[in-house]
Amino acid sequence: MTFENLVLHSNCAVKIQFKGEQIKAVSKIEEVSNYVKKTLQAKWVKWVHHATKPAESSEEKSANVIKGIISKHCAICLNLNGCCFVKDKCPTKPLHPNCHCDTINIYPITATIESPIAKFTKYVFVSSAVDDKKQLFELWGYGIMDSEYLQQEFIKQATLAYSVGDYELGLLNEYGQRINITITLKRKNKNEYVTFRSGWMVYPNGKIVLITPYGRR
Ligand SMILES: [Zn+2]
Ligand SMILES: [Zn+2]
Repeated sequence: MTFENLVLHSNCAVKIQFKGEQIKAVSKIEEVSNYVKKTLQAKWVKWVHHATKPAESSEEKSANVIKGIISKHCAICLNLNGCCFVKDKCPTKPLHPNCHCDTINIYPITATIESPIAKFTKYVFVSSAVDDKKQLFELWGYGIMDSEYLQQEFIKQATLAYSVGDYELGLLNEYGQRINITITLKRKNKNEYVTFRSGWMVYPNGKIVLITPYGRR
């Protein structure tokens, strides 16, 4: 029984108690109620750049970068349009003189998480002279055949984190706002956990897309 399942159907914690795992169940109930509390506390806002269409894909973001050069609109604002943030972790407006962007209060988001498999098969598990991601993951017991597991694990953890505003603001530039989310993995070969930072690009209406599976602190 994982924490994620518990969150998905609230009766689970009670069921676990009937299985005789009272202590575990109590800590799970606390974990769940903390999560629910955090969800209720998170106040969401949406960035609005009036009269332009939010960029739903990386192609549309790139098109906005060009638009930022050839029109009077600025790419940063165009690419923030429609993006959702918790109130206390939102880019600061105005972003520049004459920035007409607004933030509007919205209901809690439904997070949509994209974690492309290629980020693992063609990035994490590819040897590189400049960094040691592959060696690190292998040291923890993970290989390229675990790519699908890691993909799903990143989706689960990012869904929980983004839904309650458990993220830090990262780089903001003409492509938009990146956020950092902490990922925790259990070492396969040891009873130990490793935590590290992953980097995500924010898209409109609660969507984030994995950019950097493993980022340095
Ligand atoms: Zn602007
Ligand atoms: Zn603006």
